[in-house]
Amino acid sequence: MSATATAVKPPKVRQTRILINNEWCDAASGKTFPTINPATGDVIAQVAEADKEDVDRAVKAARTAFDSGKWPRTMPSRRGWLLNKLADLIETNKEELAALEALDNGKPFKDAINADLPLTVACYRYYAGWADKLHGKTIPINGPYFCYTRHEPVGVAGQIIPWNFPLLMQAWKLAPALACGCTTVLKAAEQTPLSALRVGELILEAGFPPGVVNILPGYGPTAGQALARHMGVDKVAFTGSTEVGHLIMKYSAESNLKRVTLELGGKSPNIVFADANMDEAIEGSHFALFFNQGQCCCAGSRLYVEEKCYDEFVSKSVDRAKQRKVGDPFDASIEQGPQVDQDQFNKVMSYIEAGKKDGAKLMTGGGRSGSKGYFVEPTVFADVQDNMRIAQEEIFGPVMSIIKFKDTADVIKRANANMYGLAAAVWTKDISKAHAIANGVRAGTVWVNCYDVFDAAAPFGGYKQSGLGRELGEYGLQNYTEVKTVTVKL
Ligand code: NAP
Ligand code: MG
Repeated sequence: MSATATAVKPPKVRQTRILINNEWCDAASGKTFPTINPATGDVIAQVAEADKEDVDRAVKAARTAFDSGKWPRTMPSRRGWLLNKLADLIETNKEELAALEALDNGKPFKDAINADLPLTVACYRYYAGWADKLHGKTIPINGPYFCYTRHEPVGVAGQIIPWNFPLLMQAWKLAPALACGCTTVLKAAEQTPLSALRVGELILEAGFPPGVVNILPGYGPTAGQALARHMGVDKVAFTGSTEVGHLIMKYSAESNLKRVTLELGGKSPNIVFADANMDEAIEGSHFALFFNQGQCCCAGSRLYVEEKCYDEFVSKSVDRAKQRKVGDPFDASIEQGPQVDQDQFNKVMSYIEAGKKDGAKLMTGGGRSGSKGYFVEPTVFADVQDNMRIAQEEIFGPVMSIIKFKDTADVIKRANANMYGLAAAVWTKDISKAHAIANGVRAGTVWVNCYDVFDAAAPFGGYKQSGLGRELGEYGLQNYTEVKTVTVKL
């Protein structure tokens, strides 16, 4: 653990209540739940615990704003203007928001301010630009008819977000929905409600009309389920575990067949050929796995390394992991904070045990770091086999599994032998190998000689059980629009 003095102070918590129809309120039940600082295990604040009754009120507000408000109909450029205003306000308050994120989630402040915040701001600005550019087509059909399509907002969007990138996931959900003219009810993750609520304050400051954005802190099985089952919700967008993704589809099927988009888990193959720039591949693969405490849906968590360079790669990757500085998220010199909560800590530790039991070779780490909070040592396993649990299941922690492969055909086959298909990467100087992997691996994103390159304009989402639909970019607009065909007899 690093002992350097803290560089940035934890922020003051300003908002802990529910946002419905532009008013802050307590839960109908009066209940609250604690949100925890994962670096210490201490309670940061008590937060209003939304449940079914609050979901009903929020959906009613969103319904009214959609059905009889101006938002979906007459305000395209105003919608863009407000989204830009919100982006500006987030930028003005970026230090505070990054500090809230570090406090509630445990991610290094340095990462929040350099990655989460700029991507969040860029996402709102990107979709602000789309608000008045959502047009359909004119279609030359047979006969004396004029036929055209309109891209209309899907309606009230229920949005359920996870705790690993709270601000960014809020932006990925709110920005396209609002640009398209939907109204929204967003449930924040129970582990990390604080930054979403602070953005709620900025939404009011920007001047969004009542009922357009409603934000509920609360638990998944209660508030989340009520939202996904609600008959007044037209669409649900979910990011989180594949397990809950299955439930969300079921809730939709059992209620009103609301549209569903899912961004779920992954076990992304990161493939290193011997002809790669080795230093870049080692540093890039370290980043691909350890960034955000390993809590990334697209983490490069199946690290396939070509036989010819395997020993060198393992030895240098182990050295790099040993250098990784773990400690207080507000310390500017650290690279890794705690896991988000006790459950995630336990889950990661149980996978480390499984790796050892299944016969993988523990090269470094494997234990708790420090004596309080949920810190895990950067851990590297070598000699990992495809059938081991650590090579098949999502660990969501700082645990690297290095696997050996022979050639391109062999690695593509093995990369695809998994239920997930979110992302993949390849490191090579050979353009043919790069394209063989890019085309052969069934995944929604493939990075070549880089990793975790995100841009609001580039779509992101999963094949197979990694999800349904794409977020970001022009493709992301489809999640929040219905296509209407209008045919006029001439
Ligand atoms: P999770 O339960 O899927 O949480 C994601 C969101 O879904 C949270 O807002 C959660 O509410 C909500 N939720 C939970 N159960 C629900 C239900 N029955 N109906 C509606 N909403 C529900 O994920 P987790 O338990 O936090 O983490 C478990 C694992 O999921 C992780 O170890 C990781 O493998 C994966 N995960 C993936 C991502 C990703 O980016 N794809 C993000 C987070 C986790 P609460 O606030 O009550 O949890
Ligand atoms: Mg949960």
